[in-house]
Amino acid sequence: MAMGLRDEDCPAGQLGKNLGLQGKTAVVTGSTSGIGLAIAQAFSAVGMNVMLNGFGPADEVAALRRQIELDYGNETDYSAADMSKPAEVVALIDQAASRFGPVDVLVNNAGIQHVEAIETFPAAKWEAILAINLSAAFYAAQRVLPAMKERKWGRIINIASAHALVASPFKSAYVAAKHGVVGLTKTIALETAEFGITANAICPGYVLTPLVQKQIPETARARMLTEEQVIRDVLLHAQPTHQFVMTEEVGALAVFLCTHAARSITGASLPVEGGWTAQ
Ligand code: NAD
Repeated sequence: MAMGLRDEDCPAGQLGKNLGLQGKTAVVTGSTSGIGLAIAQAFSAVGMNVMLNGFGPADEVAALRRQIELDYGNETDYSAADMSKPAEVVALIDQAASRFGPVDVLVNNAGIQHVEAIETFPAAKWEAILAINLSAAFYAAQRVLPAMKERKWGRIINIASAHALVASPFKSAYVAAKHGVVGLTKTIALETAEFGITANAICPGYVLTPLVQKQIPETARARMLTEEQVIRDVLLHAQPTHQFVMTEEVGALAVFLCTHAARSITGASLPVEGGWTAQ
């Protein structure tokens, strides 16, 4: 018997906790920080039960969970599963399913970056970026799809990047992985189109999270600029708005993609980048 809510139960155009998403099981990889955390909070606000994942000191993660549950009155669980390890990706999905029921919404968000010229780019960084930013999304999707297909409802949201659509120098592994994520997203969308499942990629521009803060000194070294020049002339220069994207904007789009109103959006790559790739 089908578990959870079906699209027919989720009328479009309703707001807040009436989006029809209450009680759904969501997994958000890399949600102890930045964009993933904002998505976890946005999902909690509409009543989903959220499986958190990512690294961080145990007491800080516990405080984060307590705060989310206090703010939104939902339930959370947490796994420190390492997304560079396929067996741990599978264990993460299984833990969410046994705690909350089969996974309805999967957000592949965990990601890392390294900024360096190809000639000296460390092989270990290349392998880690491909594993975490691309392969983990494959293994997680592979694990959730059978139950989604059976229940004829599911949402897969891959957090790609503007760098899934255009390249920048010194980010070979990241650009390759993120372009790969878009290809994977399209393939999942085609394989699931008749099963009430959508798969989409969100492509943020620069969002001021720890991932971006860390690459400011790296980019300064690679381009022989000051850190102030990197922010003004490299990062914000790419975005015609000349403003960082806010994590909440990505969270709101992720929620929309889960609604009934978004049921025909699948296989898409949705830029949230202040006009970067319009140029
Ligand atoms: P962040 O560094 O703030 O958060 C990354 C999260 O991933 C953290 O929770 C971290 O613990 C987790 N993580 C890292 N390695 C992991 C691993 N091996 N296993 C499990 N979890 C792991 O970064 P962010 O900026 O919020 O980035 C989130 C996603 O958004 C990434 O995929 C990134 O590529 C993408 N993105 C970010 C930006 C940006 O400007 N910040 C722009 C476009 C796309």
